[in-house]
Amino acid sequence: MPLDTIPPVFDGHNDVLLKLYNAGGLEAVDSFLTGREGAIDAISATAGGFGGGFFAVYVPSPVDRELKFDQMTQASYDMPLPDPIAWADAIPVVMAQAAILFELEKRGALKICREVQDIRDCLSTGKMAAIFHIEGAEGIDPDFHTLEVLYQAGLRSLGPVWSRSTIFGHGVPFRYPSTGDTGPGLTEDGKRLVRACNEMGIMIDLSHLNEAGFWDVANLSDAPLVATHSNAYAICPHSRNLTDKQLAAIRESDGMVGLNFAVAFLRDDGRMVPDVPLEQMLRHLDHLIEHLGEDRVGLGSDYDGAIVPPDLTTCAGLPKLREAMAQHGYDAALIAKLCHENWLRVLEKIWKK
Ligand SMILES: [Zn+2]
Repeated sequence: MPLDTIPPVFDGHNDVLLKLYNAGGLEAVDSFLTGREGAIDAISATAGGFGGGFFAVYVPSPVDRELKFDQMTQASYDMPLPDPIAWADAIPVVMAQAAILFELEKRGALKICREVQDIRDCLSTGKMAAIFHIEGAEGIDPDFHTLEVLYQAGLRSLGPVWSRSTIFGHGVPFRYPSTGDTGPGLTEDGKRLVRACNEMGIMIDLSHLNEAGFWDVANLSDAPLVATHSNAYAICPHSRNLTDKQLAAIRESDGMVGLNFAVAFLRDDGRMVPDVPLEQMLRHLDHLIEHLGEDRVGLGSDYDGAIVPPDLTTCAGLPKLREAMAQHGYDAALIAKLCHENWLRVLEKIWKK
């Protein structure tokens, strides 16, 4: 199948802004255009038919990432969550990573999409489509002044927590085996945040929230429920994955789930060990489709933020995933839904015009 006839992938989560921030910030933007060591850049995107996705702004904790992944190779693990980060410490990092996103747009690498038609235009012209997303609301103040300013700047999606607690709620620790039922739900400020996002048309991302927080959002939100990068707990009983009961609530709300490529959330044994065949991803997709329906499943790679299967180490490998879907018996219409159409469908319902 020639590349120009296959559906581009529009993806629920990447951490390339964090990687560029760590690599020197604005100075590192060139590497996105000319080629970089990492999962996503302009060259690998063209090669793999990566059409864009949610670009996360994320404030890192001072933890040793290598140490974390090393512990997650064990048969079971329970990583302590890092300390909360104060707004005053978070906001310069949020600004710096958002500035990288704007610089990428200025250099012509991508377009920041504020409405669904922007994404459609990008996918049809080959321009990379980016959604300005924040993973972990440490940069949002309880009066929502920053929320308003960031929305005006293009923010269209927000996760109340990246696992680490915020003033809005609590996320799951990286724990295997474990359900996501690991602590209390949203705070009062968190409930106000859900209402504010509903009013503004900002998508709320449930990935990383614990179960109590998930159900708080489910009860409060008038928007479809979305987990941008989470998998099936029935296959991999990891705290970051979704139980069938959660999937039923997402289906009921007409929301969706993006399949996370991180091996620890894919493997039955939850280990952060990369030798995962594409068939394992198809098992999760089958389960998600069974419980959510064909219109409520997409991709959420976690590219540049996770260890992923060897066939997909960069987005240049995405044709192999499409091929595996076809060999598994998914027809062209379903593959197009999984690759990008379902994201457009759900965003159409969530974003205000
Ligand atoms: Zn994440």
